[in-house]
Amino acid sequence: METPGRIKIIELFKSATGVVVTVKGWVRSKRGNKQIAFIALNDGSTIHNIQVVVDLNKIPEEQLKTVTTGACLRVTGTLVESLGSGQPVEIQAGEIEVYGTADADTYPLQKKGHTLEFLRDVAHLRPRTNTFGAILRIRHAMAFAIHHYFNEQGFYYIHTPLITASDAEGAGAMFHVTTLDINHPPKNEQGAIDYTQDFFGRETSLTVSGQLEGELCAMALGQIYTFGPTFRAENSNTPRHLAEFWMIEPEMAFYNISDNMDLAEDFIKYLVRYALEHCADDLKFLNDMYDKELLERLQGVCNTGFERLSYTEGVDILLKSGQKFEFPVSWGVDLQSEHERYLVEKHFKRPVILTDYPKQIKAFYMKQNDDGKTVRAMDVLFPKIGEIIGGSQREEDYNKLLARINEDKMEIDSLWWYLDTRRFGSAEHSGFGLGFERLLLFVTGMTNIRDVIPFPRTPKNASF
Ligand code: ATP
Ligand code: MG
Repeated sequence: METPGRIKIIELFKSATGVVVTVKGWVRSKRGNKQIAFIALNDGSTIHNIQVVVDLNKIPEEQLKTVTTGACLRVTGTLVESLGSGQPVEIQAGEIEVYGTADADTYPLQKKGHTLEFLRDVAHLRPRTNTFGAILRIRHAMAFAIHHYFNEQGFYYIHTPLITASDAEGAGAMFHVTTLDINHPPKNEQGAIDYTQDFFGRETSLTVSGQLEGELCAMALGQIYTFGPTFRAENSNTPRHLAEFWMIEPEMAFYNISDNMDLAEDFIKYLVRYALEHCADDLKFLNDMYDKELLERLQGVCNTGFERLSYTEGVDILLKSGQKFEFPVSWGVDLQSEHERYLVEKHFKRPVILTDYPKQIKAFYMKQNDDGKTVRAMDVLFPKIGEIIGGSQREEDYNKLLARINEDKMEIDSLWWYLDTRRFGSAEHSGFGLGFERLLLFVTGMTNIRDVIPFPRTPKNASF
C-alpha cells in the first residue's frame, strides 16, 4: 500500500471518503473480538478520536499486542463512512506501525476517569487526556484572540522586562534574582548583603507586573499592551493564585476610567465570543463532563451589560445583605472573593465593575479622587472567579504621585524613571491587568487555576 503523508484527524472529518490516508497519534483505547479490533486514536488536533477498524484476518492479532492505551502509532488505511453511531468516518486499517509502546502495567493513564487531583501528579502526561487537550487548545485560542483583538484596535505589543529593580505594587512579595552565593553573600559595612557585587549591581527580582514600563510606552505610542509571565511569591495556596502566571496589560494614553471600563468590557466579551465560535467542540466537552451551565454562563456574559458601581455602594449592599461572610465587611477592607461573588452571583446576577476604592488598599500609581479617601481604581468581578481584572486611571500629576510615594515610604530611587513620565509630557491615561489563567478558569469552567496552565508553579510545587 502506498503511504500518503500524515493528515491531521481534524481534517479527516472534513475529507472525502474512499481514499487512503495516514494518521499518526496516541491510542486512547482498544477493544474488539477475535475477528475485529477497534482502536480509538487521538492526535491532539481535536477532542474527537478517529476510530481505526482492524480486520484481524488481514492484520494478525499478534501484531496488535503492543497497540495498548498510550502507545504512539502510524496507521495507513482507507477512510470510509462509519457504520457505528459514534463517528461520521473511520479508517479501515491497511498498515499499522507502532512508533512507541506504552507498557500497560505502568502507563499512568491506562484507565479513563481520573480525578483532576490525580492528573496534577502526572502533569507531564496529562496533555494526553481529553480534558487537558481541550483546555490547552482553548488556551491557545485565547492567546491568539488577545493578540488579534489588540492588533485590530491599533494597540502595539510591548515586551516588558521580567527582571526588574522596582516593585510595581509597592508591597508585592517578589522572587529575588541573584547570582550571589546564598551561603556566603558579600556583606557591606553595615552587615547587610552587598548587592553592588551582584550581577546587576543592585537588588533585582522577577516582575509582578509590566505596567510601569507599559505606561512609559503608552505615553509615546498611544495604546500598547503587554502579555507575558508574571511572578508573585505570595504564599496563598488558593484555587485562584499561581506563583507564575500570565497577564495581559493594556495601557492607553488619553483614556479616563470610563473609557478603561468600556475597553475591559468589550475586550472580555470579544474573547468569550471568540471561544464560543472557535472552540465549540472543546467547550461542549467541558460543559458535558464538568459544568452543565458553562455554555449558558458564557453566552450570558456576551449578552449582558456589566453592572458598574462604586466600592462604597458595593460595601453598602454587602452590609445590608444579611449574608454571613467568613471575613466580615466594612468600609476600607479589601474585598474577598466571597464578597465579590456575592455581588456578582447573588445580587446583580451579572459581571460587576467596582470603582473608586479606598486608597489604602490600592497601589500608589492610581489617580487620587478629590475626596482624599478614594482612588480611581476599577476591578472587574466575574461569576465563579471574583476578581478577573484589576485596573485604574493613573495619577498623571507629578506632585500628587510624589506625595503618595512618600506617604507609602517607597524607595524613590528605583522609581525616578517612572516619575519622569509625569515630568515630561504627562497626560490622562489608564490601563488594566487581566490574569490570563483567571480568564481561562471562566472560559473552561475549571475551578482550580492549576488546571488551566500546563505546568503550574505554586508553593512547594515546581516539579514538572
Ligand atoms: P487578588 O486580589 O485576586 O490576589 P490582585 O489584586 O493581587 O488579585 P492585581 O495585582 O490587580 O491582582 O493583578 C491583575 C490581575 O492579575 C488580577 O485581576 C488577576 O486576574 C490576576 N492575578 C493576580 N494575582 C494572580 C495570581 N497570583 N495568580 C493568577 N492570577 C493573578
Ligand atoms: Mg494578589
